[in-house]
Amino acid sequence: MNKILISFSFVIFMACGSSQSSSNNQTTSTSSTSSTTTMDHVENKVKDKADLKLIKDFAKEYATSITEAELKKVLYTLASDDYAGRFTGEEGQKKAAKFITEFYTNLGIGAANSDGNYLQNIPAEYFKGHAKNSSENVVAFIKGSEKPDEYVVLSAHYDHLGTKNDKIYYGADDDASGTTAVMEIAKAFQKAVAAGNGPKRSLVFLHVTGEEIGLYGSKYYTENPIFPLENTVANLNIDMVGRLDKQHAENPEFVYLIGADKLSTELHELSEATNKKYTNLSLDYTYNDENDPNRFYYRSDHYNFAKNNIPIIFYFNGVHDDYHQHTDTADKIRYDLLQKRAQLVFYTAWEIANREKRLVVDKE
Ligand SMILES: [Zn+2]
Repeated sequence: MNKILISFSFVIFMACGSSQSSSNNQTTSTSSTSSTTTMDHVENKVKDKADLKLIKDFAKEYATSITEAELKKVLYTLASDDYAGRFTGEEGQKKAAKFITEFYTNLGIGAANSDGNYLQNIPAEYFKGHAKNSSENVVAFIKGSEKPDEYVVLSAHYDHLGTKNDKIYYGADDDASGTTAVMEIAKAFQKAVAAGNGPKRSLVFLHVTGEEIGLYGSKYYTENPIFPLENTVANLNIDMVGRLDKQHAENPEFVYLIGADKLSTELHELSEATNKKYTNLSLDYTYNDENDPNRFYYRSDHYNFAKNNIPIIFYFNGVHDDYHQHTDTADKIRYDLLQKRAQLVFYTAWEIANREKRLVVDKE
């Protein structure tokens, strides 16, 4: 999660606030609308209830391969001393890029670049003095079985604040948690592919760099997209999903959702229905309010997609005492919550990728 965009965002908000202020009423979908929206791909494909059940169980089977133990293993690596806080362009970030790349290689999940290189190189000058060296986005890809030219992007930033005054800023929650979630979601989808149940639309697993210094990695990707933005159906962005904030001490099974209803009513309804059906987390829309002073909608990588009229959902656990401190460590992660939230994103991506019709953008 980025700290430095607040004033910048405020300007944007002032510029577009008047046109959006009336359209952000939160819609509570009725269960009948929701189930129609999410299940249309299934209902168009199957003939009876037995088949319906079978198809639904597939998603569940793969989602349950996302486990606390697996998440913990990956997250502890990314947030270890070896990676030195993963500052953009520094050795620790490049080590993390290598680790993520090897993870995909070992699973047989290919690179997004047609030459087989997982890395999207970003020259040092692009960071406008905020980082000294060039850096890399890591981009993996699963090709859709029926609509390969439509793309769902799952993103998380893997850079963090580095090492300052001999203190490593581990960034376990920010954003090793999202990075790990994207990797395990990819692994679950690859299991589906291996069993012949791969997604209809293509999936792009986008690990961006340069987030903490100003959302540069996602900006670079959207300015130099590997796959056309006009065919990019949605972006699900995960930034800090392994902890909880003080407001949810009594109700930890929650996640903040931001942006789901901003461009596509269907996306919001699909997201609600998917959660109701599979994960039952409490979805908190506090920060989805245009008038919320935190302006989180503008403060992570999804915003570069939203700017391009691509529907997004931002998954977030709120801030806590360890936010942007060297004390954001792997032992403080709630792996049970991380698992549930990663599964929610998996199911949501599953529905978006497999539904019959592409999500409709009906708002500006
Ligand atoms: Zn951050």
